[in-house]
Amino acid sequence: MAEAKGPATKPVSNRDFDFFYQGLADGALLVQQCDGCGALRCPPGPSCPECRSFAWTALPLGGTGRIFSYTVHHHPPLAGFATPLPVALVEMDEAIRMVGPMDDTAPDRLRIGARIATRFVERDGVAGFRFVLADA
Ligand SMILES: [Zn+2]
Repeated sequence: MAEAKGPATKPVSNRDFDFFYQGLADGALLVQQCDGCGALRCPPGPSCPECRSFAWTALPLGGTGRIFSYTVHHHPPLAGFATPLPVALVEMDEAIRMVGPMDDTAPDRLRIGARIATRFVERDGVAGFRFVLADA
């Protein structure tokens, strides 16, 4: 495994994403829930793709789900991450999919359908999250 190159980079944020990063700092995995129709959305956006409402509420997820798909990133190096870096698309138990790193999981342990949990991390002053195998 290649060592992490450099410190973690601070994610670029904007008014749509600020709540998400603040949630991570507070130990919560947040998605937007439309106040108009109740649809969940991730990644964040200014309006609901279902009903076009601009009104929404931050909904904390339970942090558990199943791997829907995954890939293993090898190149180029990513600041703050070692390679190979497993990255999973997870079907959260709330029926919304999220992408997240699984850098504490050996790539050969990844399986479609495996149960995952969420772990919150802080590195170099940057709050983040990792998906981990629930049985690990
Ligand atoms: Zn809506």
